[in-house]
Amino acid sequence: MQIFQTTTELNKVLKDHRSNGSFIGFVPTMGALHRGHMALIREAKSKCGLVVCSIFVNPTQFNDVDDLKNYPSRLEEDVELLEGEECDYLFYPSVDDVYPHGTDYNLDFDLGYLDETMEGKFRPGHFLGVAQVMHSLLKLVNPTHLFMGMKDFQQVAVVQKLIDDLLLNVEMVPCDTVREADGLAMSSRNLRLDPEMRKKAAVLFETLQMAKIWILKFTSEQVSQMAIEKIRQKGLKPEYFELVDPKTLLPICNVNKPMKVVACVAAYAGAVRLIDNMVLKA
Ligand code: AMP
Repeated sequence: MQIFQTTTELNKVLKDHRSNGSFIGFVPTMGALHRGHMALIREAKSKCGLVVCSIFVNPTQFNDVDDLKNYPSRLEEDVELLEGEECDYLFYPSVDDVYPHGTDYNLDFDLGYLDETMEGKFRPGHFLGVAQVMHSLLKLVNPTHLFMGMKDFQQVAVVQKLIDDLLLNVEMVPCDTVREADGLAMSSRNLRLDPEMRKKAAVLFETLQMAKIWILKFTSEQVSQMAIEKIRQKGLKPEYFELVDPKTLLPICNVNKPMKVVACVAAYAGAVRLIDNMVLKA
């Protein structure tokens, strides 16, 4: 695997691949890689002739300074994992490379309702930071395919909107969530859970599964309340548990209507904020 720290170097090699028409798969990450990231690399390898992974801890998407400060970094292990999956290129840019005009430069992009609900509501400014970094990275890497995890369900919707609204020439490939044996969605932030909280955190997956049964008997409001209560009883601090339409992310009022339902949840396990989601009705 070749490692590139600057755009100039990366672009020199990508130019040849682009001109011979091969698919370029891109997997943007913030590092501290785990099996969830590796599944994206594998999916990208299966579809594209060349796979670029980026590791960049994007300062503009952190609405909490401590979260940014404590974000885990393990470059050596990351490189080993990527080499194990035969990832072709690692792009490891600096803040100046990604934001040549400074991090204050604001992408003029309206996220609309996506920025007002769930993650948008509880993490003000987060998705504008995501849109900003993805706009910049997509310009720098110029891939044909973009691989992102459904674990960050709302993020996929935000980036898809960015692609659609700005007419970016890239195909989004959403990938399934990879979980630990007890169901906890894999996340770089799991490294910061103490052993007790790590055990308790499985309640998010358990609750999402219970919700699949609850929607057969209860209203969406009741399901949300029961879920919040179950998570709270376990010692986590839930922020939201919402049943939404996967296309619009609008809340589902009547779960009996024949439509798709996705449940999305965010909760603090100690100081660590975790998110997860599950399709309750396909
Ligand atoms: P991150 O490094 O957390 O920014 O994640 C980089 C990419 O990996 C994003 O597209 C995430 O949605 C995806 N990802 C993170 N965790 C998982 C997981 N457990 N399963 C599948 N994809 C994941």
